[in-house]
Amino acid sequence: MLVEYKKLEDSLLPLHKLKDYLHLSFGELEQLKKIVQIHPMRVNAYYLSLINWNDPKDPIKQMAIPSLDELNLEGFYDTSGEAENTKMVGLQHKYAETVLILATNRCAMYCRHCFRKRLAGLPSEEILSRFEDAAEYISNHEEINNVLISGGDPLVLSNELIERFLKTLMEIDHIDFIRFGSRIPVTLPSRLNDLDLLALFKKYSRLDKRIYVITQFNHPREITPQSICAINNLLKSGVLVNNQAVLLRNVNDDPFVLSKLLKEMVRIGVLPYYVFQCRPVKRVKYHFQTPIFKGIQIVETAKTNCDGLSKRFKYIMSHKTGKIEILGIMKGDIYFKYHQAKERKNLGRIFKRKISKKAGWLDDFQ
Ligand code: SF4
Repeated sequence: MLVEYKKLEDSLLPLHKLKDYLHLSFGELEQLKKIVQIHPMRVNAYYLSLINWNDPKDPIKQMAIPSLDELNLEGFYDTSGEAENTKMVGLQHKYAETVLILATNRCAMYCRHCFRKRLAGLPSEEILSRFEDAAEYISNHEEINNVLISGGDPLVLSNELIERFLKTLMEIDHIDFIRFGSRIPVTLPSRLNDLDLLALFKKYSRLDKRIYVITQFNHPREITPQSICAINNLLKSGVLVNNQAVLLRNVNDDPFVLSKLLKEMVRIGVLPYYVFQCRPVKRVKYHFQTPIFKGIQIVETAKTNCDGLSKRFKYIMSHKTGKIEILGIMKGDIYFKYHQAKERKNLGRIFKRKISKKAGWLDDFQ
């Protein structure tokens, strides 16, 4: 099933190539080697060029280059209950109207903060092997109105495979739109100079049935002439683009950085859709997660610097019970609201928890 985009450069870098930039002792380098044996490092020349190597805390570097913090094993791998929503290998059905397809375990870059760290770049039995079965499941469930194709990053797949997804899914009457969850515009924008791929998007994007790319810009420095061109190519091909940023410690946990990111998204034609609370993923939580209390302050302060479009997003915790909007703080409590719910009776339900300045996830509150 897995056929990668033919021009995807082989960017699985051996660590020793970065040794001179990383300023690590021999012992630290040996430990990093162990980390990348567990979670591989893939970063290409383009994304490497965005790193400021003179800044030991460079936010772009944090997302691309492994750190010794990954040795901390706090957290767990499946934070959103994906296993229990799996209806067949590679297909999850959690919310009635949406089906999620895990189309590949490969990406153009293996982000160190990835919430699917359990499968990104690793052999996995969670990846779709028979698309026909997934298409049949979707055809038989009329409550499904959209399909999210994710992974991994589905835009590393071959154009032939992407066309197969589009052709089959667009023909299902009750499907209203298709989404690709992809960080390609950010990590390998040159992929979106491929005229054949753009022609495919143009061919299958209909006025009454749209294709969306849901991407993940996390820092204003990821907005470059190349990524702007990639977004423009998508828009010109009839694809609508939304952004799901992740609130990441030492990357964008600063109201100024976050508001700049959100405003620049709108400027280049990308609508901010969600800002995700960083999940408590093993080898991620310890160094990337910000407490929710602090997250609210960052998000709300960032919003004071935003126009209406750039603050249309919701600050969301993607919990195993549903997508929970983090509403804010009032009289000693933090308020939440079910934006999406695994159990429909919870949809729209507002609830509160006593303030904790440390809690990073719903289960951390008393
Ligand atoms: S591109 Fe997406 S799936 Fe791949 S490593 Fe990054 S965040 Fe994870």
